[in-house]
Amino acid sequence: MSLAESCGAKIHFNHRVHQVDIDTNEIQFDVESKDEKQTYANHDLLIGADGAFSALRNAYVKKDRYNYSQHYIGHGYKELVIPPDENGDFSIKKEALHIWPRRNFMLIALPNTDRSFTCTLFLPFEGDESFEQLKTPADVRRFFEIHFPDTLSLIPNLETDFFQNPTSSLVTVRCFPWIHEDKNLLIGDAAHAIVPFYGQGMNAGFEDCRILAELLDETENPDWHELLKKYQHKRKINGDAVADLALQNFIEMRDKVADPEFLRRKFIEKELGKLFPEIFNSVYEMVSFSHTSYSEAIRSQHAQDILLEKVMQAGDFQTNLNNPSFQESLKNWMQEYHKAIKNIQASL
Ligand SMILES: Cc1cc2nc3c(=O)[nH]c(=O)nc-3n(C[C@H](O)[C@H](O)[C@H](O)COP(=O)(O)OP(=O)(O)OC[C@H]3O[C@@H](n4cnc5c(N)ncnc54)[C@H](O)[C@@H]3O)c2cc1C
Repeated sequence: MSLAESCGAKIHFNHRVHQVDIDTNEIQFDVESKDEKQTYANHDLLIGADGAFSALRNAYVKKDRYNYSQHYIGHGYKELVIPPDENGDFSIKKEALHIWPRRNFMLIALPNTDRSFTCTLFLPFEGDESFEQLKTPADVRRFFEIHFPDTLSLIPNLETDFFQNPTSSLVTVRCFPWIHEDKNLLIGDAAHAIVPFYGQGMNAGFEDCRILAELLDETENPDWHELLKKYQHKRKINGDAVADLALQNFIEMRDKVADPEFLRRKFIEKELGKLFPEIFNSVYEMVSFSHTSYSEAIRSQHAQDILLEKVMQAGDFQTNLNNPSFQESLKNWMQEYHKAIKNIQASL
């Protein structure tokens, strides 16, 4: 925010958008400490970066032929804290994404700069093992004793955290268009709220910003409608792709990471990435550690499934690596894979 201000941005706190007229860009605000609504008008361009429950998007939804869907998954989440240890240090490994997968639910922990960890319990709202069953501190303790016994010594304020922190829901929002004429646009979660299981929601928003900034850099006096159309065209398929990837990764995190076959596949993916760095990058690496677009990543999944199935069916990967006939087959499979990826890239 300081950087934005140094570039000329003016920040108004405690102004909640009540209503937007998308044709005139007139905005009505509820302002804390003022009884009457404040109206601001005459904006050339309005950027709705107001999150999953965007007020600008609410105005779009009322338009004719506006496509909109929101879907809540059956799970909610609750945040808990692992504080630093008695020496003020991280109490578990800080370089890892910690996951306690339990098939239909899971606990994860991510490190913070103050050496604590934020733990998040993802659990169904209803059912046998669910938030609705955890009504008392004793219920919560029993649940953790059964499912996450090794975390009890790490989360000293389990019961307090649990009942003080909200149980929050998880929504996927898809909508189209993301723009209205040359007047306004949606960006970030306002355009594509996703479930958090790929850790990509904020990154996807920053990618929207990067693409918009690149388009702005391309011309000095842009045709705004054309520019916004290009922004939307480039980003919508990626918003959809990351929404799907995030939903898929929930199943991977809570269920598959406990499956030895899945872990074998992950190991082979890593090895293939080392052996063929120019050709192979796992979908996970594409999404998390590269600038490969989400749409390319999700479309590469099928080609990777075919490749990995062949490699895994051939037997023990490490033993096979010393076998000349396997080496030859692997080379051919990699060539086929490479061709498939080139086709995907050409189609985007
Ligand atoms: C549990 C969880 C874990 C996550 N983990 C990750 C992660 O590891 N990595 C990652 O990249 N992303 C993660 N995300 C997603 C990430 O938090 C969001 O994608 C990101 O914050 C979206 O940024 P945004 O600026 O578009 O919207 P927001 O961060 O939601 O910001 C919107 C802003 O608009 C304001 N606003 C809303 N309505 C109005 C209104 N009517 N008037 C005025 N102002 C308004 C809000 O107060 C807020 O300041 C996670 C999300 C959740 C729920």
